[in-house]
Amino acid sequence: MEILHVTAECYPVAKVGGLGDVAGALPKYQQKHGHEVKLIMPFYNTKYVSAHEWETDYTGRTNLGDYFFDFQILKEKNNTLGFALYLVEITGLLDRPNVYGYNDDPQRFIAFQICVAEWLRQWHHKPDVVHCHDYHTGLLPFIFKHCYDYNMLESIPTVLTIHNAEYQGWLSWDRSVWIPRYDVWKTGLLDWKNVINPLASGIKNAWAVTAVSPSYMEELRYNSNGLEDLFEYEKGKCTGILNGIDSDIWNAATDSFIQTNYSLTNISKGKQANKNYLCDTFGLDKEKPLFIFIGRLVGEKAADILPDAIRTILWETKEEANFLILGSGEATVEYRLEEIKHSNPKSYNFYRGYNESLSHQMYAGADFLLMPSRVEPCGLNQMYALRYGTMPLVRRTGGLKDTVIDIGDGGYGICFSQANIEDLKHACSRAIEIYHQKKNLLSYRKKMMSIDNSWDNTVNKYLQLYQRLA
Ligand code: ADP
Repeated sequence: MEILHVTAECYPVAKVGGLGDVAGALPKYQQKHGHEVKLIMPFYNTKYVSAHEWETDYTGRTNLGDYFFDFQILKEKNNTLGFALYLVEITGLLDRPNVYGYNDDPQRFIAFQICVAEWLRQWHHKPDVVHCHDYHTGLLPFIFKHCYDYNMLESIPTVLTIHNAEYQGWLSWDRSVWIPRYDVWKTGLLDWKNVINPLASGIKNAWAVTAVSPSYMEELRYNSNGLEDLFEYEKGKCTGILNGIDSDIWNAATDSFIQTNYSLTNISKGKQANKNYLCDTFGLDKEKPLFIFIGRLVGEKAADILPDAIRTILWETKEEANFLILGSGEATVEYRLEEIKHSNPKSYNFYRGYNESLSHQMYAGADFLLMPSRVEPCGLNQMYALRYGTMPLVRRTGGLKDTVIDIGDGGYGICFSQANIEDLKHACSRAIEIYHQKKNLLSYRKKMMSIDNSWDNTVNKYLQLYQRLA
């Protein structure tokens, strides 16, 4: 099949979170399974973009309301990612260092989608499926079906995957001029609760909708930031498909970001060497269990409970554990995490910011990973941790529920119910106990590292879905 992915992120071109990882891996595995896969995303000013060679595939001119602009579609010359990568370049609008966070993000992503439709319109044939990801590309199914200039694209099956329904791209109706001329009788297919809602529009107009885990798909019908009724109504075309991981990139035996490579045969030695490096770098104690957290410091991840939970655990256990945090986000959380450095310099550290190589080193060198998330559509961190023999401590929600089994139920992780200090504390004390039973710890590590969460296992679920639509 010929598959076109449309996305705002793709690792290693530009990544903010899990969407980037999935968009970098799923197409690669689909191509590996014999399909012709293309991915198109905005041209950002990132290291990857400047370090690779590009050729012009198409140039055009279009408009966003009364703003007319030129754009180019660039193709990466050597297909280094294992599939064909295309960028939409709009000078002044998309070519910036960051993916999100600009006041004109709505214009940027609508212009991006219009350029994708313009590009597709002049293809001599049509792809078998266009696969959209999150609200940034949620208007495309509507554009294909109901915008006059693009009705030749109407017959292309569209899939929308929801990586995170918290962000929906809401726009007031006075911005409707940005959407290409459309059949006004179809206005309701853009609207949810009196605003233009690109994610809701994607759910209404896509031929099929997926969420990144079966449990998250279920939860969306009860908790989806205002879209609950829509998910209930559209449940017939919704499925949950669990994400996989790129097991070439996330492989302790070959990972070039980590100090010491290791595998099933030398887990303890390998992990200890990586832990030593981390502890030396961050002034921590190599003998004590090392707990880490990696991620956006936001309410969804329950990052706000971390400062008090960590303080309490350090106080109650007389610093029997180390904590290392990597992330950035809400200023108050960052500030409170920063403060603990002063009171517990030998058992706590915090790296504020984004650091891909440090994240790999942490998955490899840590003993335990904390994920007390309030909302976790799939969660990749716990799968990376498992792959590196690091035990995840997770709240039972979304994809965490689908990927981590508690040791008490014959599994390899620690699960808890509430995103609060008490539950997190209890989970950590269970972990500390396990840490001191070295034999058990080793057998859990072996079990974790033997789990196969690679895309090879799930890639067929998407292919079956496409085939059904085609
Ligand atoms: P999200 O909701 O943020 O998408 P996921 O668990 O799906 O959460 O994916 C998070 C991805 O982003 C993982 O690859 C994780 O290692 C990475 N990540 C998150 N924050 C950071 C950071 N500060 N530095 C490096 N990598 C990070």
